[in-house]
Amino acid sequence: MMLLKQIKEVRKLVKSWRKEGLTVGYVPTMGALHEGHESLIKRAVAENDRVIVSVFVNPTQFGPNEDYDAYPRNIDKDMQLCMNAGAVAVFNPEPEEMYFDDKSTSVSVSGLTDVLCGAKRPGHFNGVCLIVSKFLNIVTPDKAYFGQKDAQQVAVIKRMVRDLNIDVEIIPCPIIREEDGLAKSSRNTYLSYEERKAALVLSRILQMVRKELDNGERDANKLREMIAEELNKEPLAKIDYVEIVDSDSLKHVEVIERSILVPIAVYIGKTRLIDNFIYEL
Ligand code: AMP
Repeated sequence: MMLLKQIKEVRKLVKSWRKEGLTVGYVPTMGALHEGHESLIKRAVAENDRVIVSVFVNPTQFGPNEDYDAYPRNIDKDMQLCMNAGAVAVFNPEPEEMYFDDKSTSVSVSGLTDVLCGAKRPGHFNGVCLIVSKFLNIVTPDKAYFGQKDAQQVAVIKRMVRDLNIDVEIIPCPIIREEDGLAKSSRNTYLSYEERKAALVLSRILQMVRKELDNGERDANKLREMIAEELNKEPLAKIDYVEIVDSDSLKHVEVIERSILVPIAVYIGKTRLIDNFIYEL
């Protein structure tokens, strides 16, 4: 298991794999790894000859009042998880390795980032796009794996890769949940006992919406109202957004006629949690 701190080490390693004709899978993460990340790594291991994982808490995707400093970090535990899942290398650069003091280039995907988390977290997706494009340029993988947990991120990254002709296949992977339904997240560690119980409201509501859709409900406003009503019953929960959007364009939907994404973002105490599902029609 290799721990790489420098860009040039990654380039050298990947070059040596390429010389042997090996395929390369890549999983970008911010660390504090759990079974959600593990599922991405295992999928990458199954589909590629070599897998590299990056562990980097990316400062440019955090807003000024967000949890960059508090974000959990544990590289030893992360290395262990990556090794057990079958990755061969972890790239864990310092911020100074990734960013020049006088960096002048931004990567911004318009439209898709004006809604949902993009609207609530100004600048977030610019930070994500910048770091992911840099990592893709450094690792040059055949395939890169992203969790559907961050559904908007998947849509934005796919668009960026298409628009910039980056030679990589983006593979979306399903959301991994705790046994009681809570989507796994590094941020779940912030939750107190009471908040952890309250956090179940996210997955519970999404299940309710799915049932309504199965029963033929096609009025998106009715569903949005139902979600908001249900969330308001949980005193520790504060809605950040509740939406029903087209799963490709992420545009607001009134009448459900084709595949939709149902994303929600909720504050449980001070912790912001997101969850979603895609309903295929
Ligand atoms: P993060 O470390 O939170 O930036 O996440 C790194 C990658 O893991 C992203 O592509 C996430 O969407 C994915 N991921 C995080 N949590 C989960 C989960 N519960 N299930 C599936 N993928 C996840």
